[in-house]
Amino acid sequence: MNFDWNYLFSLALYPDFWRATALVAWLGLLTWVIGTALGFLFALARQSSLRPLRWFAKTYIWLFRSLPLLVLLIFVYNLPQFMPSLGPVLSVPFWAGLIALVISETAYLAEIHRAGLISVDQGQHEAAHALGVRPVGKYRYIILPQAVRVALPALGNEFITIVKLTSLVSVISLAEILLVGQRLYTRNFMVIETLVAVSFYYVFVVSVFSFFLSRLESRLDITRMTGAEIRAPASALSSRTTNERCIGQEVIVELDNVRKNFGDKRALADVSLKVCKGEVVSIIGPSGSGKTTLIRTINALQDIDAGRITLDGVDWIRAGDKGYRVASDFHDRVTRLGMVFQSFNLFPHMTALENVMFGPRYHGNRDKEALRTAAMTHLARVGMATHANKYPHQLSGGQKQRIAIARALAMNPEIMLFDEPTSALDPELVGEVLQVIESLTRDGMTMIIVTHEMRFARRVSDRVIMMENGHIVNDMNADELKDAPADSRIRKFMLQS
Ligand code: ADP
Ligand code: MG
Repeated sequence: MNFDWNYLFSLALYPDFWRATALVAWLGLLTWVIGTALGFLFALARQSSLRPLRWFAKTYIWLFRSLPLLVLLIFVYNLPQFMPSLGPVLSVPFWAGLIALVISETAYLAEIHRAGLISVDQGQHEAAHALGVRPVGKYRYIILPQAVRVALPALGNEFITIVKLTSLVSVISLAEILLVGQRLYTRNFMVIETLVAVSFYYVFVVSVFSFFLSRLESRLDITRMTGAEIRAPASALSSRTTNERCIGQEVIVELDNVRKNFGDKRALADVSLKVCKGEVVSIIGPSGSGKTTLIRTINALQDIDAGRITLDGVDWIRAGDKGYRVASDFHDRVTRLGMVFQSFNLFPHMTALENVMFGPRYHGNRDKEALRTAAMTHLARVGMATHANKYPHQLSGGQKQRIAIARALAMNPEIMLFDEPTSALDPELVGEVLQVIESLTRDGMTMIIVTHEMRFARRVSDRVIMMENGHIVNDMNADELKDAPADSRIRKFMLQS
């Protein structure tokens, strides 16, 4: 038997094939788009803190990944036998095929999204939280753009799988590419030539899509985005209780008997602390003494087991018999607390300027020019104005941390919280960040700084607090620190570190 080239070429213009190709592309695209959207919701549900929701998503994914598509297709197509009211929709092969494909593909696409969501660093969630971003905004502007970038190659792959799976829909007599071919070769017996044509049409659909996908991928690739420059030795608790502080002054933050356990480990043991306006408080102490936990409870990045926290004298966080509660206006007021993290947590898909503009814009400032001007002022304040258009991956650690400080300042916070802002930096970059923080003290900013930089702490602090085993063991102002006996724990600690 000879291969009939003329017949093959004639199939290139066969209208039924082109109609079937359009149908396959449309069915594939619809399945992919709907499945991707639903899959994202299932991926979120799988990570939900609500157990029934998590369970539902897990069961769905398990069930529909186990079920062969062919079985599902025939099942859906024949469902009207039991539920005649579904007949008008499900007896149309296209709709029955679409529904079966979407049900099945949603399960796979959910897992792809989950991989993307898991890949986004926890710090991104924390940075969004610290800027007072609500969950929907957080996913929309911060998490999703990053997760999708990771998931995109696998999502694209799944489209190809879907296009190929559409051939199964021929069993419920949808006139897709394979069925058109089958109808031809059962009449003319030119099986091989016809199947070559069938293959061509599938390859065509997949290639066109892959082309657009690779362009989208490179557009979303952030690594390619670049921007040019334009006293008594302590026993358990301090002999000096913190409640003597802030006499006649405005109290910004007050912790009242705050307790936090991690299992058996007591991270905060009924800590009380007042920080008054304009005060610079350094928190020092050995690793694991509860410094990070303390600072994170203030903006609710860490929940507490017992105690009360007030912000500006107003109820802020409370825990006790009734459980853990934050103020109802939490997302509005949390922006009064600026937070700077050890690992910066800049948003990698935004330029330095966009990182700084994000918070105010999210909170309703729509005037682009004003936003930009204000953001540039904050960048200038940290000495980063020339790097405004650069992406985080183009910057050094010290520069990133300065941007992170500018991002927090952009919300005009009343108090800045720093958790070891220089610990992740190379030694030669520590100085530039400390200088920026020191400049804030001159502006009268209220600050709580967890740090291991003892000389810095001594130079800038109005008060130094030392923690050990979840307790505040020393709380001294600058004069008291000077007068503290040379053999006191706090002096020793400050000298040895
Ligand atoms: P520091 O910042 O002073 O080094 P932390 O506040 O990070 O200390 O931790 C205080 C204690 O609580 C440590 O013993 C630490 O292991 C524990 N801890 C902190 N966070 C967690 C957590 N998420 N899960 C379990 N234990 C934790
Ligand atoms: Mg820490």
